[in-house]
Amino acid sequence: MKNTSKHQGLRNQLAKLLEEKGITDKNVLEAIKIIPRHLFLNSSFEDFAYQDKAFPIAADQTISQPYTVAFQSQLLEVKKDDTILEIGTGSGYQTAVLCIMGAKVYTIERQNELFKKTSLLLPKLGIRPKKVIFGDGYKGLPEFAPFDSIIVTAGAPFIPQPLMAQLKIGGRLVIPLGEEHQIMTMLIRKNETQFEKHEFGEFRFVPLLEDKN
Ligand code: SAH
Repeated sequence: MKNTSKHQGLRNQLAKLLEEKGITDKNVLEAIKIIPRHLFLNSSFEDFAYQDKAFPIAADQTISQPYTVAFQSQLLEVKKDDTILEIGTGSGYQTAVLCIMGAKVYTIERQNELFKKTSLLLPKLGIRPKKVIFGDGYKGLPEFAPFDSIIVTAGAPFIPQPLMAQLKIGGRLVIPLGEEHQIMTMLIRKNETQFEKHEFGEFRFVPLLEDKN
């Protein structure tokens, strides 16, 4: 698992590109500069790892485009020691960004193959989320709730009610909503019953799927 100065140069360029595309959160850009994205991809994609593109990973899933990862991370306004729930671990790249930003991350994946692969990869890279869980993200993680924020990294047909219930007052839920394409949506919890909704334009994700069992 090599991480060379050539890779570092490519990462610096990627961070610069994301800044030009409108990412302003310095901690997000710093994380992009640090995390070796090429090690989250199949080695046949290594040469392209620092392009701003999504790529296939195992189980017919994708690693999100860096801009999308940066955009969602920025919306979360991550503070050190925030507890964050991520739905859709996938390659673990988004997980790594949040961990490097100082968050305590709980992440759920429903594809066993990806769950196993990513659970092994992250510690090898020195990235230590609080928990990587094999399960159904539609249910959230009630035993560790409430969370400062929740990020969904697959396209959801609707907002799963358990996720709203597991958010702290003042907390943020960032979720791409829609079937064919998705509207990036953020809910901020105002009190027990009220949520403020913000929308941020179109993105494309693999679908958030219901439990297989
Ligand atoms: N954050 C990931 C994105 C992976 S794509 C990355 O940076 O690589 C979205 C992931 O969500 C896929 O791995 C998919 O298997 C997973 N997923 C889909 N439906 C899910 C569900 N109900 N619960 C948990 N994970 C789910």
